[in-house]
Amino acid sequence: MMRNPKNKTSFKKKKPNQRNQGPNPNKKPKVQENKVFIYRPDMTVADAAKGFGITNAAMIKKLMNQGLMSTVTQEIDRDTIEIIALDDGFTVEDEVITDVTRYDEMEIVDDPKDLIKRPPIVTVMGHVDHGKTTLLDTIRKSRVVEGEAGGITQHIGAYQIERNGEKITFIDTPGHAAFTEMRARGAKVTDLVILVVAADDGVMPQTLEALDHAKAAQVPIIVAVNKVDRPTANPDRVMTELSERGLVPEAWGGDTPFVQVSALKNQNIDELLDVIQLLSELNEFKANPKRLAKGTVIEASLDKGRGPIATLIVETGTLKVGNFIVIGNTYGKIRTMNDDLGQRYDEALPSQPIEVTGLNEVPEAGDIFMAFDDEKVTRNIADSRQSRARDQELKQMKKRSLDSLLGELEQEERELNLIIKGDVQGSIEALKGLLEKIDIEGFRVNVVRSSVGAITENDVVLASASDAIIIGFNVRPTAAVKRDADNQGVEIRLYSVIYRVQEDIEAALKGMLEPEYEEVVTGQAEVRELFKVSRIGTIAGCMVTDGVVKRDALVRILRDGIVIYEGKLASLKRFKDDVREVRQGYECGLSIENYNDLKIGDIVEASQLREIEV
Ligand code: GDP
Repeated sequence: MMRNPKNKTSFKKKKPNQRNQGPNPNKKPKVQENKVFIYRPDMTVADAAKGFGITNAAMIKKLMNQGLMSTVTQEIDRDTIEIIALDDGFTVEDEVITDVTRYDEMEIVDDPKDLIKRPPIVTVMGHVDHGKTTLLDTIRKSRVVEGEAGGITQHIGAYQIERNGEKITFIDTPGHAAFTEMRARGAKVTDLVILVVAADDGVMPQTLEALDHAKAAQVPIIVAVNKVDRPTANPDRVMTELSERGLVPEAWGGDTPFVQVSALKNQNIDELLDVIQLLSELNEFKANPKRLAKGTVIEASLDKGRGPIATLIVETGTLKVGNFIVIGNTYGKIRTMNDDLGQRYDEALPSQPIEVTGLNEVPEAGDIFMAFDDEKVTRNIADSRQSRARDQELKQMKKRSLDSLLGELEQEERELNLIIKGDVQGSIEALKGLLEKIDIEGFRVNVVRSSVGAITENDVVLASASDAIIIGFNVRPTAAVKRDADNQGVEIRLYSVIYRVQEDIEAALKGMLEPEYEEVVTGQAEVRELFKVSRIGTIAGCMVTDGVVKRDALVRILRDGIVIYEGKLASLKRFKDDVREVRQGYECGLSIENYNDLKIGDIVEASQLREIEV
């Protein structure tokens, strides 16, 4: 797809005075070559280098020529790619995904006349105890519930309210983990973020974390300065602190709406909702209800009575009872749909959160679903997604250990991403400073997050999304987090002495300068007969019982399961002929360098050194 010929010469700028160049080399060789760069969203500098068929170093140089300092893992925007493409005679085209099993990566293009307005989807984020849950509760209670069914709500992870004839969807799972997890998996399930900051507490670590996530998602942020009912409330401080982080209040000439509220006392919540609706008007969120639905899983669980259930948010299209859907790597047929008030629906429209039953397995939060017409198609898509996911998982498991992590990166600009968690700010700062200063040519340590606190699931999600290793300094993960990290192949390294961290990281980086080898066992042979040959030594008549034994193998002699000798093969023969290898089920004669004490029944285990790749 995005493969360009590896043949470097085809990309070299040709000098006009070069000979054997073909006719008229002055005349735009670029166009003749018709080189195409396939653009995908979220491409990194390394991806772009691949796309142009150049090395990472060359790519970085090109960016430098444009005045951009970047690293290989950084994202590169389309404009920059266009500029470089123009220089090098490439035309840029969007990747067109036609493989329906990758429906989650496909961009849906609608005819503008099919698009209608859809409600905004709002996520509430902020530091713990600043009032996220209270705010979501207060807003939920504010809705006028029709009929007698009202009052009893059930948590399904999202809800909608109606105000002035317009709906607003709230994701009711406060916390960044859900948000990051979804973003990490490519789900764009938030249109607006409400950043809750307690006026009596001010900007705290998780406020900043939330801010980072919201900024990364490139969605408008509304600040809810909460708990203004408290005597110690100091909203101005919050405004100042956030201004320093780039969120300048509208009142101060910036463009971030700040609303002072009390979630507990239900003060000014109306104004907050006004701002949400105003921002949605400005942003014109739209979708096409006329197509088969596509959307995201917000929550999922296994219900004793109802089987796997999931709360979905329809991003576009209309989801109907009876639809077949692929959801992550599983599938199902929608049996029932209900909202958090227990109200049943036959159809769910864009931005509508809905709890569904009828799935075969429990999907994961952040999974993307899509409805299809046909059951068999649906099942086939789910099957092939499942096997692909397994392959990828295996690859990732290999990928992320500290030693192999760097091995798989390109030669020129290797970057080691780290997340540092520690017990006190001082040691974290010290550690960060030391690690970022590590100066080994061609390597860079990049600290993607450093904060005080225990290692959390959120860290694991970020580590997984950014291929980072987590360094815990005087902090430990809980068993659940550890398990999570293991499952996702994220490496957590724990330390209590600063210089040990530095040593380890340096050693790992240095180690990567040399190719790494690993020993791979290729096969085994069993000794069946022995021939003593003067001048040569002992020749063992063997049967290869497993795999293959190669002439250049390293061998281990096992007797009753114990390694009694390690060395190299001196000869390998089939009958009288020297051979390069002997496979399972064949007999052979072999001798071992400097070792003659073989016995019948010994196992010769053959292995090969292989340079580690991936
Ligand atoms: P979360 O961790 O961000 O979800 O915070 P919670 O919503 O659980 O609130 C933490 C605490 O702050 C609870 O005891 C709430 O009652 C209290 N709280 C939340 N909002 C307000 C508010 O506007 N005013 C006051 N005085 N207390 C609040």
